[in-house]
Amino acid sequence: MDFSLTQEQKDVVTAAREFALGEFPERAQEFDREETFDYQIWKKACELGFVGMYIKEDYGGSGMGLLSCCLVMEEFWAVDAGIGSAVLSTIFGADIIDMYGTEEQKKKYLPALARGDLIMGTAITEPDAGSDTASARTIAVRDGNEYVINGSKMFITNGSVADFVLVFCQTDPENPDRHKRHSWILVERGSQGFQATKIRGKLGIRASDTAELSFSNVRVPVSNLVGEEGKGFKELMAFFDLSRIVVAAQGVGIARAALEEATRHVKKRQQFGMPLAAFQVNQFKIAEMATKIRAARNLYCEAAWKADNGKLDPMLVAMAKWFSGQIAVECADEALQMHGGYGYIDEYKVQRIYRDAKIVEIYEGTKEIEKLIIARNLLR
Ligand SMILES: Cc1cc2nc3c(=O)[nH]c(=O)nc-3n(C[C@H](O)[C@H](O)[C@H](O)COP(=O)(O)OP(=O)(O)OC[C@H]3O[C@@H](n4cnc5c(N)ncnc54)[C@H](O)[C@@H]3O)c2cc1C
Repeated sequence: MDFSLTQEQKDVVTAAREFALGEFPERAQEFDREETFDYQIWKKACELGFVGMYIKEDYGGSGMGLLSCCLVMEEFWAVDAGIGSAVLSTIFGADIIDMYGTEEQKKKYLPALARGDLIMGTAITEPDAGSDTASARTIAVRDGNEYVINGSKMFITNGSVADFVLVFCQTDPENPDRHKRHSWILVERGSQGFQATKIRGKLGIRASDTAELSFSNVRVPVSNLVGEEGKGFKELMAFFDLSRIVVAAQGVGIARAALEEATRHVKKRQQFGMPLAAFQVNQFKIAEMATKIRAARNLYCEAAWKADNGKLDPMLVAMAKWFSGQIAVECADEALQMHGGYGYIDEYKVQRIYRDAKIVEIYEGTKEIEKLIIARNLLR
């Protein structure tokens, strides 16, 4: 087995780390406190090619594949999860256009996303439909050459900054098979009846925009259908098999940040006449964190490598996503513990890491849903 990265991937990692270290730390605390999405850093990241890395060359990206995209995500999250999330999730859902969109849709949206001219969101979750995505009730009714959309969406990343949103809607609500009722419909910002309300007060990744969306008789042309009518659920599952690998990379990144902060602190802080690093309990914690991070990275890298090489493995994806979330939360907890009271104050980065890490266990399928997928694969 060869676990080595290509020279190109190594260069990408170095460039991503340098960019993140140069741009994020100075403003991370401010963005976290004020819950601000920063257009400047996002624009720079687009100009340097980080955002469009996964978009194919034919559509203005660099087509470097999912593994490279995950490596960048890991580096960004290792420096600051909130900004990393804000910058790289601006194309969240572009895979759906790439995999299922028409040629016209791909040409219109993908290059603009890679360039940093557009931001998108992908809206699946609803107030009453979270883990059970097939129960989403937002409805799109065909009226001549248009769809008329009614409903609401919850917790949508980029909801109030996106130029357009891919909305998971029921187009065939009477279909007896609940997995054949949905389709993806693209709604542009400014459409009459479409409203986005920013959600404030998130626990973490506060530099990333999250909003509630409402659709009241929103009319869009039928050409805004992305993918096949009635195949939306199947397309969503295929999308999750890719996006969950990227989230697994987020977990590894933030666990690394926790390890870095913990290591720095225990080497510096003295108690009982010696550095905290001299106590074996802290040495064990550091050793356990580093080992878990390594294991989680191997899981997501294998999952991404397989996806890039046409061998997508949904059970491995679920394992990578669940495990990464678990170790992110554990490492953040241990890192804060090693900081004692200082870790409880937001002046210390470890407090933000502790708050940011939790999201990895929640979005793109909670840890329980990932375990259900793993078990289903093993028990069938
Ligand atoms: C910051 C943030 C950003 C987000 N971004 C987006 C976005 O861009 N687009 C989008 O569509 N959504 C987004 N989400 C929503 C996210 O994907 C959902 O919150 C998540 O899928 C869980 O759904 P829920 O919150 O409704 O929880 P629920 O589904 O109500 O789950 C609550 C608890 O019950 C458990 N549970 C549910 N069903 C089962 C079961 N069958 N077996 C065992 N346990 C179960 C869950 O694991 C969880 O612990 C975002 C959420 C947050 C917080």
